[in-house]
Formats: sequence, structure tokens, C-alpha cells
Amino acid sequence: MSEEALVLTVESPASCLRCRNCGAQFPLIAVHACAECFGPLEVGYDQEKLNAVTRAQIEAGPQNIWRYAPLLPVGQDPETRATLNPGMTKLVRADRLGAELGFTAPLWVKDDSGNPTHAFKDRVVSLALTAAKGLGFTSVACASTGNLANSVAAHAARIGWPATVFIPADLEPSKIIASAVYAPRLVAVDGSYDDVNRLTSELGETDEFESTAFVNQNVRPYYAEGSKTLGYEVAEQLGWKIPAQVVIPIASGSLLTKIDKAFAELAKIGLVPNTPWKVFGAQSLGCSPVAEAFHAGHDVVQPVRPTGIAKSLNIGNPADGPYVLDAVRRTGGSIAVADDDDIREGISLLARTTGIFAETAGGVTVSCLAKLVKDGLIDTSQETVIYNTGEGLKTADVLDVHPTHRIKPTLKSATEAGLLS
Ligand SMILES: *Cc1c(COP(=O)(O)O)cnc(C)c1O
Ligand SMILES: [Zn+2]
Repeated sequence: MSEEALVLTVESPASCLRCRNCGAQFPLIAVHACAECFGPLEVGYDQEKLNAVTRAQIEAGPQNIWRYAPLLPVGQDPETRATLNPGMTKLVRADRLGAELGFTAPLWVKDDSGNPTHAFKDRVVSLALTAAKGLGFTSVACASTGNLANSVAAHAARIGWPATVFIPADLEPSKIIASAVYAPRLVAVDGSYDDVNRLTSELGETDEFESTAFVNQNVRPYYAEGSKTLGYEVAEQLGWKIPAQVVIPIASGSLLTKIDKAFAELAKIGLVPNTPWKVFGAQSLGCSPVAEAFHAGHDVVQPVRPTGIAKSLNIGNPADGPYVLDAVRRTGGSIAVADDDDIREGISLLARTTGIFAETAGGVTVSCLAKLVKDGLIDTSQETVIYNTGEGLKTADVLDVHPTHRIKPTLKSATEAGLLS
């Protein structure tokens, strides 16, 4: 692949890649670490172009993430999109959950299990693959805790690209099936996600993978921008305002930092009133390096070896950990932790009060919401949004739930079972 092909030339409001650590700027290329300091790069925008974006322009767009194309680095031209068209998932008013937790203000669940592959990852993969196409790549790969693999495999199938997907071998069976069905090269690795990620970084340097976009590595800056749409959508669905409090699960931390970035952008452009918001994080006890750093008052995150049932969140060395700490501290939020039993209870609580079946990550989030309320850190008189990022059927094995009755198809049997008196 020639060097020339590696600069994004599409017309968009994006102007550069910028180092989040030292501020150095680079063209829109396929790298994710700063050449000066190895800090992470993110997309920088031409503020004048962003300022020209209007609510009406967005509202006239399609019912998916691409309505926000004027705020994204790629995808302005529909023909260039490599996508399953995720987004505009339901924002569900959770009055019964709110009542149970003592809320007097509205509590909402942004239910991203409604995406094409049933997790929020379709948003980031659509951005990553559209950028990859624009950058001249011809195949795709990723290291994944499960949902990313599902989404990359499905997107590759839709656009006809070869995909190589690397996962820890001990993932949930349903998540393995939900990748394998799209027929990628599916590589189960004997190791943790962090081991898999290290391996794919090394593979990305080889000649064999020269034309391959690794969605969360060489095109990570574009990938990460996809998560902003979870901030934009919530603000738009609330009638163009920022919720006072949000609760977001943390794996690498990218999702949390990008929802915060989205709110800041909307306020800066003037698409919403500039009201304060607090960002709260949710981690599982089996993998809580960011929560630990937060509560210890540290700026750096000490890597851990993850355990526990919330496998989609099991990243022991989270790339965006320090930026999560920044966002949570700057906004006056906090980070809570849920153990495996709490996670199961969180799944059950959400299901029986809202009719939403969340995967383990959602159980972490609901359980952390309950804790944050109990500890007085979340104000129940303020409008609050929690993010359900994935579908319960993919991790159904963690639950021990059964039919409440077993009967024969007769009234007699129904009576004996106590259904009739
Ligand atoms: C990947 C994932 C997350 C967290 O994503 P990060 O951006 O890595 O923090 C949350 N929930 C689910 C279900 C996921 O698959
Ligand atoms: Zn730098």
C-alpha cells in the first residue's frame, strides 16, 4: 500500500489527528499513537464547520448514526459508508425502575441492544470501516471481548471484505456463535483480552496484515468517534438537552470519554443549552482498575488480570483509563463497582422493571446505578440516563432462571399447580 493512499481525503469537518497527551497534530492518517510521545490520537475538527451545523440539518437526516455525519470525520457521502446503519436506538423512560430506586426526576435507559448486532459496537465499527475504506484498506481485523467481534464480522460480510477476528478462547458460547455465523476467520486465542490485543498489535506490524485495518488499533481514532453518537442521540431524544447525570460501563474507557466529548461539542456548537452534567462509570469487581485508580486518587491506571462474568468489560489495561478519570473528576461524577452476584441482580432488576434484557455489562451498569444512588452520589431529583450497551441473550448462561410452573395441558393440572382455585 502506498503512503499516499493512507491519508483520508474525504470532505468532512475533521481537520487533523491530535495527540491527547502533548497536543501534537498529524494529518488524517491510519495511526493511533503520537509519533512524539506515544500518547493516543483523537480526531480534531474545524470548529467553524461544526458551528455551521443546525438541529434542522440533523433532524432531516436518516434514522441512524449517519444523521450526525456533519459532526463525524467520515460518511458525509452515503456512498462511502461501510455500515449496517446502526443507531437511533430507543431511549426508554424507566419509571418503574426509577420508582424502585427512589427517583423523583425521570430515569431513562438508552437501550443499545437494539442495534443490528445487538450492542453499541456497531456504531464504532461503522466509523472504523468507513474510514478504512477511505484510507485504502481492503480487509479488516480486530481484537475483541466479544461484541466487537460480532460487529466486525457482520460488517465485513455486508461489504464483502475479508475479516480476521481475534477473541479470547473462553468467551460466552453465544458470542462465539454470533461471530462465527458471518464466516470470518475467527481466531480463538488461549489468553486474556489483553494478551489478544498485544498479539494483534504485533500482527499489525507484519507484511501479511499491511492492507488490514485493525478497527481498534490503526484506525482507532475514527473508531472511537462512533461512540459520540450515543451522546448526540440521547441529547436529541431528550429534546435537545444534556441529561444531568449519565451512568456508563467502562472497558477500554473509550465509550465513556466519547459520550462526554459529544455533550461538550453539542454545548460548544450551541445545539443544546450549556447545562452541567456528571459522568459516572461502572465496572465489575473482577476488572475494576479504573475505579481503583479513581478512589485511590491516582492519575494512572494500574493494569489488572480480569476475572468474572462481565466478559465484554474485561479489559485489564484500559487504553483510555486516564481520560476516564479526567472526565469523571472534571464533571463531579464517580465510579462504582459490581460483583458477579450484583451483576445478576442488576440484570434481573432491569428486566422485571423495564422489560429490557441486558447482557452482563448492562447488569454492571444497573447495579452501579443502584449503588451510586444508595451512596448519595447520584441525585434522584435530577434527570438521569443509563446506557445499556448489549443484549441479554448473548450472556444468558450466567442466569439461573427457570419456568415457575410445570404442568400438563389440562385444567386439572393447572388447578393442581395453583393457577386456578
Ligand atoms: C465494548 C463494550 C463496552 C465498553 O466499551 P469501551 O469503549 O471499550 O469502554 C461496554 N459494553 C459492552 C456491552 C461492550 O461490548
Ligand atoms: Zn503526543
